[in-house]
Amino acid sequence: MDNAARLAQRPVPQLLAVSKTQDATAVAELAAAGQRAFGENYVQEAAAKTQALAALDLEWHLIGHLQSNKAEQAARLFDWVQTVDRAKLVTALARHRDPARAPLQVLIQVNIDDESSKHGCRPEDAAALAAAIAGEPRLRLRGLMVIPTPHAQPEQRRPAFRRSQALFAALREAHPSIDTLSMGMSDDYAIAIEEGATMVRIGTALFGARAPKAST
Ligand SMILES: *Cc1c(COP(=O)(O)O)cnc(C)c1O
Repeated sequence: MDNAARLAQRPVPQLLAVSKTQDATAVAELAAAGQRAFGENYVQEAAAKTQALAALDLEWHLIGHLQSNKAEQAARLFDWVQTVDRAKLVTALARHRDPARAPLQVLIQVNIDDESSKHGCRPEDAAALAAAIAGEPRLRLRGLMVIPTPHAQPEQRRPAFRRSQALFAALREAHPSIDTLSMGMSDDYAIAIEEGATMVRIGTALFGARAPKAST
C-alpha cells in the first residue's frame, strides 16, 4: 500500500482488514499487531466475533449486503455500514441506532458497472440517497463504496474505479465533509489507490486464502 501510494503520489489509504470466515483468534492476532478496523460480510458471523472480541477496542464495518430485516442488529453491532443502497435501509438503520452512541458511519454502495448485480444503487441515485442519509442525525455520511465487476484482469477494473472517484468528487460538492472512497481488494488495491481510494478492503493478502464457504 505504501509503495502504491508513493508511486501514484497519493495519500496512503486506510486499511480495512476483511475478516469474514476468519476466527476470533486470527482477528485478535492482527489486532495485536496494531490493526483496528475489520470488515465482515454477514451480520450473524459478526455477532459472534464482535462479542468474543468485545474487550478489544475494534472498529467493525459491514461490507456485505444488508437485508432490511437485519438492519436492527446491524445498527447495534457495527460502527460502519458500507453497503447502504436504498432509502428503506437509511430509515431502518437510523431508527435502530442507539442515540446514546456515536452516529453510525455510512457509505453508499454504488453499482458502478455491473448490470447483473442486484446490489448497490445506480450512480444517478447516489445524490438522493446521500441527501436522505445527511438528514438523519443518527447516521453520518462518509462517502462511497464500490465493488467493480470482477474481470479476470484487475487492470480492466480501472475505468470503474475512475468513474467511482468522479462520482465521489461530485458528491463532495454537496457534502464537503465526506472523506471515504472504499475500493480495492487483494488483487487490485494498487490500481484502486492510483485511482483515488481512501480505504482498501483486504482479506486474502492479510489472512491467506479463505476456507471454502461450505465448510464455514
Ligand atoms: C471478501 C471481500 C473483500 C476482500 O477480498 P480479498 O480478495 O480477500 O481481499 C473486500 N470487499 C468485499 C465487499 C468482500 O466481500
